[in-house]
Amino acid sequence: MTSQSSAQVNTLAESLAQSKRVCVLTGAGVSKESGVPTFRDKDGLWNKFRPEELANVEAFIRNPKLVWEWYCWRRELMAGVEPNPGHYALAELETLFDDFALVTQNVDNMHQNAGSKNVIELHGNILRNKCHDCGYIFSEEESKQIVDFAEGELPRCPKCKDGLLRPDIVWFGEMLPEDAIDFAWKKAMEADIFISIGTSAVVYPAAMLPQQAKSAGAFLVEINPKRTELSPLADIVIEEPSGVALPEVTRQFKIILGK
Ligand code: NAD
Ligand code: ZN
Repeated sequence: MTSQSSAQVNTLAESLAQSKRVCVLTGAGVSKESGVPTFRDKDGLWNKFRPEELANVEAFIRNPKLVWEWYCWRRELMAGVEPNPGHYALAELETLFDDFALVTQNVDNMHQNAGSKNVIELHGNILRNKCHDCGYIFSEEESKQIVDFAEGELPRCPKCKDGLLRPDIVWFGEMLPEDAIDFAWKKAMEADIFISIGTSAVVYPAAMLPQQAKSAGAFLVEINPKRTELSPLADIVIEEPSGVALPEVTRQFKIILGK
């Protein structure tokens, strides 16, 4: 870590010590060090597959097998990876606050795997399925029981018997789950400190959360090895990978707390 980053980590730890309410927003960047590719980096998925062919409802109606194949590949990829030190540091940080919300755009379940409790998923979860017709959402456990796409059959809904199942992911052009975005909004508006981590901050409405938090008075921090559209608005920008910066933030914060 550069000496500038170390100084900023200290500033962040001190700000945390003065904060009661913390809101964190994460994006694909936090999972990159675990081996999950992001969408917009040079080696991201979007360079190999055109998202418009895969991640929208029209594509699913046109060619559900292609879309399922892609998601099966992504599920397999995600099943083989583990949380990294950044995920664990966030889970530990949560235990040091009474009011800590972790809003994520990721669908990979990695924050939960690392032990985070109060996770608000804005874009769904790749481990769950939902029915394209009746809308029923199957839990991770239920989804494991019903999908057997490996045998080439498209999975059908056990509730309404006929609907095609799809991953419980928010696709391009779809609305975010109302409860999740409302709760995230509330947490952003109430936050004393808002930390945006590993997101290119261009996908709305998630990208509005840091802006809203800042205009409601929060101290705004960004952690990302590359500057983003959000960077000019942030009070501090820590230009480091989250797996490097976050463990240091938690360590410094615990020193301040005397833990
Ligand atoms: P994005 O691909 O647009 O941006 C990733 C950001 O992470 C970039 O700004 C990049 O500079 C930064 N980054 C790269 N390496 C990093 C590191 N080691 N530490 C911290 N930051 C790092 O991703 P986004 O902003 O989350 O885009 C949102 C969409 O991508 C969402 O719809 C989300 O559902 C989807 N997505 C999710 C996953 C996942 O669940 N892991 C993976 C790919 C895409
Ligand atoms: Zn159904």
